[in-house]
Amino acid sequence: MVEIKTNASLDAMREAGRVVARALAAAREAAAPGVALAELDRAAREVLAEAGAGSPFLGYRPEWAPVPFPAVVCLSVNDAIVHGIPGSARLADGDLVSVDCGATLNGWVGDAAVSFTVGRARPEDTRLIATAERALEAGIAAAVVGNRIGDIAHAVGRVCRDAGYGIPDGFGGHGIGRTMHEDPGVPNEGRPGRGMRLRHGMALAIEPMLIGGGTDDHYTAGDGWTIRTLDGSRAAHAEHTVAITDAGPRVLTAL
Ligand code: MG
Ligand code: MG
Repeated sequence: MVEIKTNASLDAMREAGRVVARALAAAREAAAPGVALAELDRAAREVLAEAGAGSPFLGYRPEWAPVPFPAVVCLSVNDAIVHGIPGSARLADGDLVSVDCGATLNGWVGDAAVSFTVGRARPEDTRLIATAERALEAGIAAAVVGNRIGDIAHAVGRVCRDAGYGIPDGFGGHGIGRTMHEDPGVPNEGRPGRGMRLRHGMALAIEPMLIGGGTDDHYTAGDGWTIRTLDGSRAAHAEHTVAITDAGPRVLTAL
């Protein structure tokens, strides 16, 4: 079921989204070669705590997960696509980091992700990240009243494929509101004009994931959470929570 939010509810989601944006910025600020991944999680945790926000990630345990998720951010480095667990591992010069963060504030959830490099960036990583951001922008631009879910999926997928990148099958965006994962699913590839029609008051997390090596294959690492590229190439992830409104797409997780 898809919940149509009131304008007041979307305003409340915007406040949750602002906390997510600040937490992502803090995690990014903390990132540098030599820094342990747990430090990025700590920086995000402080932002959530100061805002009085909860974490929809911490303790999250889907049926396939061997353990509850132990952090407030997913940190996916290099060949990790999504769902990486922050731990004692340290960032190295030139690493590509994807940070995914959620916040729950006054009963409403925001969800967003950003990718960046630390230290000296490889040109191919810079291009991969820029393409993920462009795919997200294309998806947001298609998130307008009267369009369908397939129009978003098509817009995202076309940017990725035209640049020669892979798209991990089985992963994508989602409806969002009082909980993190709601209907409808928002695939990262699809046919225009298909799927649910977009209405004022819907909120969607749009989240392209790109595989630099150009294949779509991935596997789950031994921790039961981290999704990695099968070809070992690097991956990038970008995400915003977006409201569909009569005035156009409203990005709820911008700063
Ligand atoms: Mg996310
Ligand atoms: Mg999401």
